[in-house]
Order: sequence, then structure tokens, then C-alpha cells
Amino acid sequence: MNLILLGAPGAGKGTQAEVISEKLGIPQISTGNILREAVKNGTEMGVKAKGFMESGALVPDEVVIGILKDRIAEDDCKNGFILDGFPRTVPQAEALESMGVNIDKVISLEVADETIQGRLSGRRVCEKCGASYHVEFNPPKTEGVCDKCGGAAVQRKDDAPETVIERLRTYHEQTAPLVDFYGNKGRLVKVQGQDEVKDTSELVLKAVTA
Ligand code: ADP
Ligand code: ZN
Repeated sequence: MNLILLGAPGAGKGTQAEVISEKLGIPQISTGNILREAVKNGTEMGVKAKGFMESGALVPDEVVIGILKDRIAEDDCKNGFILDGFPRTVPQAEALESMGVNIDKVISLEVADETIQGRLSGRRVCEKCGASYHVEFNPPKTEGVCDKCGGAAVQRKDDAPETVIERLRTYHEQTAPLVDFYGNKGRLVKVQGQDEVKDTSELVLKAVTA
């Protein structure tokens, strides 16, 4: 099964993608995590992407399309995958189609802009494996330490309030049109983000397996 998770920054795409990945045994592909890894390692691609990411803008389509194409060609994607953070523009969605990728379902996580700010300010992300947490809503068992791999769970630079405003603007302008793009193809399921992670997961899993 090939799935896409759509939603604003902080809507919980990453967290829900982890849940589905575990339940269905298919990999989660997060272009944000791949890009952050590249920035951390100072690769050529990372150097190119850094400024865009820190200002809350999108990384150019040709860069992320290249990343995605390589990633889904890997062995563990044979039985399907969950895309978390890709596509983020209509040209990216079109590129996916021209690669011949068939998308079974697109889950749109709906969360009001007003809720986003608090979610992102409390968010912590594992430096090592990319798992995400929230100091209040979804804390790791030990503060600042990833449950999954023992890595450091830290705040992302782009979760600063000024950058969040810009990321939301970018989302509405460039990514939100994908809701209609996939809605028109009859692949879209809207899921209302709940206060509790596990309540959203229940709705998401229902939507995926329906
Ligand atoms: P979030 O969904 O919380 O905003 P991500 O981890 O998915 O965060 O992405 C972080 C940043 O990485 C984005 O703000 C953007 O700059 C870049 N990025 C990730 N995925 C894409 C993509 N598909 N296209 C362009 N830029 C991307
Ligand atoms: Zn970890």
C-alpha cells in the first residue's frame, strides 16, 4: 500500500506516519528527516537545502524529487511506503505520477492554524532517528531522551515562532492545493487532528484500513 500524509507543519504527519509504519510494516519516508540528515552531515545537498529550511521556505522541487525517487527505489519500499512531507507542491505530485507511482490513499490531517503554534513550540525531535515528541502531549519516558534509540530529543531550529509563521504561509500557498488535487482524484480522506495522539491514530488507522 502506498500512502501519503498531508497536513500543515505540526499537524502530526510524522507521528502518525510512525504509527502506520509500525502497524503495516511499511517504511515511513520523511523528506524533512532526509534533508535534516543531509544538513547535519554537510553534504552538497544539505548545504543547498539549509537556507531554505531555516527561513521556512520549501527546498526546490528538483532537489526533493531527486531524493524521493532514489529513496522509493530502495528494497524496503517493495511492499509500499508512507510519504510524510512529500509531495508538498503540485509539481511534486505530478512528478510522482510520472514516476508511475500509484497512490492508494491520501490522508489529510486537519488541524487549525491556532493550534499549530503550541504544538510546534513544544515539539522535540530525536537527533539520531527523527522520532518526534511533544513536551506536554507526547513526552519521551525520560526528558530529552528518545524512547526508541536513546538519542537526544531536541528542539528544531525551524520551530522558532517567526519561522513557524512563515512555514504556515508556505503551507497554505504551496501545499494546501494538494488537498483538492487528490480530492479530485477520489483518493483523499480527511481526518480531524485530535488533542490526544492516540485518538488521532485510531482515526487514521481506520481511514487507512477502510
Ligand atoms: P514540517 O512538516 O513540520 O514543516 P518537515 O520535517 O516535513 O517539517 O520539513 C522541514 C522542512 O524541510 C520544510 O520546511 C522544507 O523546507 C523542507 N522540506 C521537507 N520536505 C519537502 C518537500 N517535499 N519539498 C520541499 N521542501 C521540503
Ligand atoms: Zn531516536
